[in-house]
Amino acid sequence: MQELMFLGLFVLALGIGWFLGRREAIKVGFMVQPHGSALDRQYFIGLNYLLNEQPDEAIETFIRALEVNPETVETHIAIGKLFCQRGDVERAIKVHQNLLARPNLSRLQADNVQLELARDYLAVGMHNRSERLLEELVDNGSPLRAEALVDLVKVYEREHEWAQATVVGEKLVRERPDFAITLSHYYCEMARQPLGQQEQAQARKHLQDALRADPGCIRAILMLAELEQGLGRYKDAGGWLQRLAGTDADMVPEALPLVRRSADNGALDFGDYLDSAIANGPPLIDTVLARADEMRANSSIGDVSRFVLQHIQNQPSLRGLMYLIDLHLDHVEGKGRENLLILRGVVEALVRAKHRYRCTSCGFMAKRLHWQCPTCHGWSTIRPLKGRETA
Ligand SMILES: [Zn+2]
Repeated sequence: MQELMFLGLFVLALGIGWFLGRREAIKVGFMVQPHGSALDRQYFIGLNYLLNEQPDEAIETFIRALEVNPETVETHIAIGKLFCQRGDVERAIKVHQNLLARPNLSRLQADNVQLELARDYLAVGMHNRSERLLEELVDNGSPLRAEALVDLVKVYEREHEWAQATVVGEKLVRERPDFAITLSHYYCEMARQPLGQQEQAQARKHLQDALRADPGCIRAILMLAELEQGLGRYKDAGGWLQRLAGTDADMVPEALPLVRRSADNGALDFGDYLDSAIANGPPLIDTVLARADEMRANSSIGDVSRFVLQHIQNQPSLRGLMYLIDLHLDHVEGKGRENLLILRGVVEALVRAKHRYRCTSCGFMAKRLHWQCPTCHGWSTIRPLKGRETA
């Protein structure tokens, strides 16, 4: 019912828009009277459909009526766009195709319609058609070139055509510098295949391109560290891991297995590495607990407890609390141990129910890190939750 009401209001707005547009046209002497009477008829037919709760027929009638007036191109574009946004892409395509067939559109109008049509095709997964229209806009130096590049890159991203995505991305980043983050991920995607086939030199080149696009690309840094470790070059890997901690200390937990391996091969000191990450600002609980684990080899339980407690007092953490319980469990007996076990069960259930990551763009919650948000498709938008957010 609500849908019908919305549609009715929309069609009514359309009819009124047409009516006002027509009045304006008569005022500037564009429209001659015989045309006007045909339009009047169409308008009242449309109104009749609307009153009979037949919004689809009403829409068709109003669109037909609007077609007579070339001044209504912008309105048509807006109508098509609205259809596309509401998921009625077939109708949007029809509106935009009809418009594009008109011979007397200005260059900007024609390009605008072509762009919208390309977006319609993209929305229904007709990537080839969308690609062709967008490439034409880019190659012809359209005033809408930047917008066309944004959509063209989306086509290649959806097709996983990473090489083409980087070619278009390089053009786009010159006009939109903030696209660099996405571009760096395209290079990382390109590096995955040669990495899987043990072609490290090729993979390394792509990852260096990723860092050229975005020097803060943690994913490229992690992949480079892993690549060098795979070749037994632990010092190089250690260098990348140090860079990671200096670039974004919140991503250190993602690198912990690699840091451990580099440390085991003498390329860096595990404790020092974590200490510098912790000193770089409020650390994530994973970093604190990894440091606590390292301390256990040559510190008393009391010292380790104090270290963890000091951090979770500033940044409350259930996992920190569970760690403390585990630390003391073996040193308590009888009723005290039983109570601790019950408490542990409760905390563990709470920890299990918690998400550890959130998309800063759309709020999507995740239990693991995704480089691309599955919901809003933003790259590098998912971040680990920190401090009170996780408590
Ligand atoms: Zn998102």
